[in-house]
Amino acid sequence: TFKKAERINSLPQQFFASLTGKVQEVMKQGHDVINLGQGNPDQPTPPHIVDAMIKAVNSPDNHKYSPFRGLDSFKEAISVFYKREYGVDIDPQEEVAVLFGGKAGLVELPQCLLNPGETVLVPDPGYPDYLSGVSLAEARMVTMPLIEENQFLPDYGDITLEEREKAKLMFLNYPNNPTGAVASRTFFEETAAFAKNHGICVVHDFAYGAIGFDGKKPVSFLEADGAKDTGIEIYTLSKTYNMAGWRVGFAVGNKSVIDAINILQDHMYVSLFGAVQEAAVEALLGSQNCVEELVASYESRRKTFINGLREIGWDVKAPAGSFFAWLKVPEGFSSVEFSDFLLEEVNVAVAPGVGFGEYGEGYVRAGLLTSEERLSEAVKRIENLKLFDK
Ligand code: PLP
Repeated sequence: TFKKAERINSLPQQFFASLTGKVQEVMKQGHDVINLGQGNPDQPTPPHIVDAMIKAVNSPDNHKYSPFRGLDSFKEAISVFYKREYGVDIDPQEEVAVLFGGKAGLVELPQCLLNPGETVLVPDPGYPDYLSGVSLAEARMVTMPLIEENQFLPDYGDITLEEREKAKLMFLNYPNNPTGAVASRTFFEETAAFAKNHGICVVHDFAYGAIGFDGKKPVSFLEADGAKDTGIEIYTLSKTYNMAGWRVGFAVGNKSVIDAINILQDHMYVSLFGAVQEAAVEALLGSQNCVEELVASYESRRKTFINGLREIGWDVKAPAGSFFAWLKVPEGFSSVEFSDFLLEEVNVAVAPGVGFGEYGEGYVRAGLLTSEERLSEAVKRIENLKLFDK
């Protein structure tokens, strides 16, 4: 046995691994678990994208190393996609970095921009992998609380002058995992102005960029004036096109940041499988009906689940975007106690809010990633616990 490097020992606990372990244990005992604890999209990749992949796999050019920094056709498709969806101009050569999914980019970024000990602003609650990148870069984290009274947006006024001056990088994510909140263009304008004033690079994680409800399309950070001077956006095909297993995404925005990502990646990889990139071109430029259908399916699930919970007396808020419901736990339980209770008593798995940070305490996260029948069944099981007054 070899001793692990300190940087491996220092990585935060993978909290989804322990959740999955608990769920599997209950399943092994023969129980039918409704698993709303994970973030894995349940629907298949649309067939026209799969077909494009199959065709591309048969092309011998794709059997070789694909070009460093990605296929031109993919980078050009990204530029067309951003113009079409958000009205934002992106230079395909200098303002795009191809990524092995959003997660890779998010974890790489602190290593690209920070020296050990430098400060990063991280939302709390937030996607746990931001912390992994910060830890690998040996950077220092300052949390920005996301609370319901502020619509789960950070209040920059709360960040002390000293911390503002020290901060080099800030993570943001709207539509938000885990709270389901969305951000307005005005908020992004404020963010860009704040970041510019203090020389902070904004990394906006737009993983749920396609998933907004009530007819409201989520806003890209890059739509804000001057956004490209202050940061980048990370986009992934995982959620928009149900391609989580394909590992394909990209970063767009500030040239110097894109350059840093590309340099790091030149040393780590060559690039994504060319056939995956060709399929991604089909996803971005082909028919977008599949995206409309996907959003409609989540919207319908949201209605079934949220209305169902309200009918049994649980006072819950509907998410404005993403595919997560962020539910306040009943009095008397911590988030871990409540998620354990639901799993053990009625075999419904949800993620405890504290797994997303200290400010996630008091909530659990439920993913709308199963059929409406199963979501209704989950509501019925919770009703049987008689926790709420109707
Ligand atoms: N960012 C957020 C907020 C997420 O929830 C996820 C996936 O669950 C990702 C990024 C990473 O997605 P991927 O690595 O599949 O692109």
